[in-house]
Amino acid sequence: MQRIILHLDMNSYFASVEQQANPFFRNKPLGVCAYLSPNGCIIASSVEAKKVGVKTGCRVYQAVKLCPQVILVENDPNKYRSVTQKLFGIMKSYSDSFEPYSIDEAFLDLTGWCRDFKQAEYLAEKIRGRVKAEIGSWLRCSIGLSFTKFLAKFASDTAGVDSTLMLPDQASLEPVFRGRQLTDLWGVNRRFKKHLNALGIRTIADLRVFPVQNLFSALGKPGYWLYCHVNGLEIDHLRSLEELKSKSIGHSYCLPRWTVDKKYLSAVLFKLASKVGVRLRERKQLAYGVYVHWSYIGQGGLSKSFKLKKPVYTTDDIFRPAQQVLSRAELSHKVTMLAIGVFNLCPMFKQPELFFRPDLNLSEAMDQINGRYGSQMIYRGLLWKTENLAKDRIGFRKIDF
Ligand SMILES: [Mg+2]
Repeated sequence: MQRIILHLDMNSYFASVEQQANPFFRNKPLGVCAYLSPNGCIIASSVEAKKVGVKTGCRVYQAVKLCPQVILVENDPNKYRSVTQKLFGIMKSYSDSFEPYSIDEAFLDLTGWCRDFKQAEYLAEKIRGRVKAEIGSWLRCSIGLSFTKFLAKFASDTAGVDSTLMLPDQASLEPVFRGRQLTDLWGVNRRFKKHLNALGIRTIADLRVFPVQNLFSALGKPGYWLYCHVNGLEIDHLRSLEELKSKSIGHSYCLPRWTVDKKYLSAVLFKLASKVGVRLRERKQLAYGVYVHWSYIGQGGLSKSFKLKKPVYTTDDIFRPAQQVLSRAELSHKVTMLAIGVFNLCPMFKQPELFFRPDLNLSEAMDQINGRYGSQMIYRGLLWKTENLAKDRIGFRKIDF
């Protein structure tokens, strides 16, 4: 049976969602920032902003210099998550094999659901139409269709704004690879490119005909995988949600104020622990390990992880071992970054506790209240006046299931 994989990637995602939400932002250069302070980073820019050079990674003060009339807004993760949910809902209605790749990208395996690529192309247009009709007319997406996952992603990367590109067979590959850089390939960064160059591989065409055994002996498995990818050999599959569940849950925070003040550090640590706790409970999992890490100014830091005999579930359980490390440690320099997380996860089977543990129910009750009325509705006294620390953030590559 003809394998048909679809890859969808939203264009200028966060910025387009903001423009969708506020019509006054449309057709104007707009940047979505991590923070609005001058050193804040632009994490997404609108099509109009890209044209004047305001790109992802640009600082707020640089953006204003480049384009004084640029509109800057702070990122609003919940808005993007709710749009993503709708988008993925539409995609999932066309196949039972679906893999979310990031907040604005996903794969769909249409093998068996579409007769041929022609029908798949029709379906791609249908999905694009539904995104505009059901979520917002300002939203645009690139769609790639091909016979492997890798090529479907390459096709959507190449397609351009609001367009579909189909690479249905081997013959269609050569013309699109021509003129493209090695670093345009998914998984090839500058370092990897240097290794390829050292073997005499300069273009994608060189890579396609390079003796595979030499590639394998020089670069190992990644070399072999890349060879398969550019030659249209499928070695991948769409991952199920079970496979995608990460093996650990963690949160980190770069402190706005570098300090050795343990009281302040422990408040931040508790806040991070409570975020980890909420996610752990959302996933209905228990953890048999806790880790804590901090970095000092300049270099160095401290990392400690514990394997536990009794699983942790509540925020207090997670916080306690980390707090002990912090309280005993001698801070040699100012701390710039804190991280805490859990690992060795296993599903939680509800079992009546032999002894009633009111704190378990307390954590769940607090999650429910905050889930309904906002994440800061009820919190521990320790977190008093820490509202502005370690706020909700959103990453492109990280999605939580
Ligand atoms: Mg995108």
